[in-house]
Amino acid sequence: MTRTSSDEDFFASMGLRPIINAASHASRLGGTRLARPVVDAMVAASQTFVPIAEMQARASELITDFMGAEAGWVASGADACLTLAAAACMTGDSLAAMDQLPDTTGLKNEIVVHRAHRMGFDHALRLTGARFVEFGYLTPSSGAGAYRWQMEAAITEKTAACFYVGMTLDSTLDFKTFVDISHSRGVPVIVDAAPTQVPPENFRRWIDLGADLVACAGGKYVGGPAATGFLAGRRDLVRAAALQQQDAFVHPEVYTEPFGAAEGLAEPPHQGIGRVLKVGREELAGLMAALKLCGSRDYPAEQGDRIALSQRLARAINQRNFEAVTVKADDPVNAITIVFGTVQQAAKTVRELQEGSPRVFVLNARIGQREIMVLPHCVLPGEVEPLESRLLQSIAVAVAEA
Ligand SMILES: *Cc1c(COP(=O)(O)O)cnc(C)c1O
Repeated sequence: MTRTSSDEDFFASMGLRPIINAASHASRLGGTRLARPVVDAMVAASQTFVPIAEMQARASELITDFMGAEAGWVASGADACLTLAAAACMTGDSLAAMDQLPDTTGLKNEIVVHRAHRMGFDHALRLTGARFVEFGYLTPSSGAGAYRWQMEAAITEKTAACFYVGMTLDSTLDFKTFVDISHSRGVPVIVDAAPTQVPPENFRRWIDLGADLVACAGGKYVGGPAATGFLAGRRDLVRAAALQQQDAFVHPEVYTEPFGAAEGLAEPPHQGIGRVLKVGREELAGLMAALKLCGSRDYPAEQGDRIALSQRLARAINQRNFEAVTVKADDPVNAITIVFGTVQQAAKTVRELQEGSPRVFVLNARIGQREIMVLPHCVLPGEVEPLESRLLQSIAVAVAEA
């Protein structure tokens, strides 16, 4: 979809200056660009009321189709879904256990993870009171970073779940082996699938290979609102997750469980650990529209556009023959990486880009390696020319000064 001048007017009226987002769907920049049907759904939802439980039930069907799972649930991000997943694996459907979190006294409270899969986002699982039990080597030795016996030894009667981050690393066990070991001990597997990219087959892979709960980002490749994520997986576990997110000011006589009729709960659950991870109907509607749209998007064409943009930028930079600046254009997410002669040049370029007009934000995580990355996912056709000229101008300034 395209931006209109009234969109710009809104930010101007608030004293804010929009940016060109050449860093893709980063949470700190507000997620991804929303397609028109997604925005329309959010606007429609904002003027209409449907009980959240009924929207969640319909969203569950869409998630089920998308993921090949038994059930689904929407929360405020992939990270939120990881919190719900960890909580579900610790409590099952015990209302007393749900009420007790994050105090895990008497509960299974250990989550087994390969050491190389530890990362900042896993705070979401620890939020429940769970603690990680790590196995494996950080660096592959003799070609492997983990052995079956290491994972087997880490699983005890205190293990609530095994956790896998959906990124291929040299040092971790392959996913199938990881699932086999976990399941052979009767322990569910939670996957952080936030990095998973469309097409949808990639998402279905996790459940196909045996994951019990998969946490996905709504605001990344799926194209939904930034404050959405969805959990997919085994019905009993998704239900246990959903029960911790109820806002159940409701008399037992009129309470309906998520996923239909009562399945044996004595009372409605109260505000559980997931209550802070809620989504509103606008987010739910936006995510539902985005999931539906995923069925009809032209993924090869989207990728072709991204590659064309990246190649255009790479060519323009190369033609300038900046001293000591080279461009790599072989990234799997169709980004280009600009390699500088010094860290100072990379940092100066990022500052120039962010401060000039129009402001441009690129990925700056690898400045220490003298690199910046330009990602095409959120760049509009009308932004290509200003992006190119700002890149050339900022690199020129940085290279001349440093
Ligand atoms: C983006 C990301 C998350 C968080 O996703 P949100 O939807 O923003 O909560 C978690 N884990 C990994 C590996 C990610 O890349």
